[in-house]
Amino acid sequence: MAQPRAELVGPATPIQPLARLSGQLGITLHIKRDDLAGTTFGGNKSRQLEYYLGAAQAASADTILITGAVQSNFVRTAAASAAQLGMRTIVQLESRVPDMGPTYDRSGNVLLSRILGAEVMHYPDGEDEAGADAALRARAVQEQKAGRVPYVIPLAAGNPPLGALGYMRAADEIIAQNAGFDVIVVASGSGLTHAGLLAGLHRAGHGARVIGSCVRRDAGLQTDRLKRVLAALSELTDTGGPVPQNRIEIWDGALAPGYGRIGPAAADAMARMAQVEGIMLDPVYTAKSFAAIPALVRSGSIPQGSNVLFVHTGGLAALFAYQDEIETALPRG
Ligand SMILES: *Cc1c(COP(=O)(O)O)cnc(C)c1O
Repeated sequence: MAQPRAELVGPATPIQPLARLSGQLGITLHIKRDDLAGTTFGGNKSRQLEYYLGAAQAASADTILITGAVQSNFVRTAAASAAQLGMRTIVQLESRVPDMGPTYDRSGNVLLSRILGAEVMHYPDGEDEAGADAALRARAVQEQKAGRVPYVIPLAAGNPPLGALGYMRAADEIIAQNAGFDVIVVASGSGLTHAGLLAGLHRAGHGARVIGSCVRRDAGLQTDRLKRVLAALSELTDTGGPVPQNRIEIWDGALAPGYGRIGPAAADAMARMAQVEGIMLDPVYTAKSFAAIPALVRSGSIPQGSNVLFVHTGGLAALFAYQDEIETALPRG
């Protein structure tokens, strides 16, 4: 059964060559500009929201409820996309990154969500996905009592992975643009983007490797998460048979010191992409995912001469909220 979809992304996002980095690394490197997907600074969540907001529209919802980190891109993109479709948004911000300053709490995505008219509530624990979802559902019940039609976008694994459907579509889009990639590198957080790309390639019979770079948990935990998401995805839609587990490739070499924290690998990656290609990465996701490419070329896991696609998943709206951390972490030239 086809899942309902709201149109949020529009035409294909560009795939651009990164000639100077290609020369430095000895590979052919392109970038998929999903940072340009959708409205209000865009990003991968626009593709995922096509299916969540499609389901919300099919249920005649008028209020979207969503939970995330304080500087969540998902929350901001949901508020913008819901506004575009005429729905209001209640966002729940979880304290996931300890000891951050007032800029982190007010700037970036938080400021944008306020401008977008989202109502903001808070959840004190950042590592309690089930509890955060329960708090959101409790709020949805209140909305229902007040005569609204709420739709909850849940966070925890175990919910139907609707967002991954957006990246199965993206896999088809990528193949139509350039079918020659050997390796695709992408951030792996909830795993919906990573799993969707992998399942989309599998369904299309395309053998490119997909390497997910950990932004939230280590490779062991993230591999388990991918297995669960892929299993749930094959129940939700036709993935052309089960995706072989040996296609799950995870790298966590830039995860330290943890979610939402900038280590030297991420800071180097950010500076390199900016200084060699003039393209900005964000410190939480895309700096850590891009860091995988030079590291895996160095280790030989990505062989010289490979045709590599880096998926820029967005996140730039949070850049200035991390001002202090970025200034401290940047390599001194
Ligand atoms: C959420 C997010 C990711 C991670 O995507 P998942 O589907 O949760 O794995 C990567 N990049 C950016 C910019 C994000 O906001």
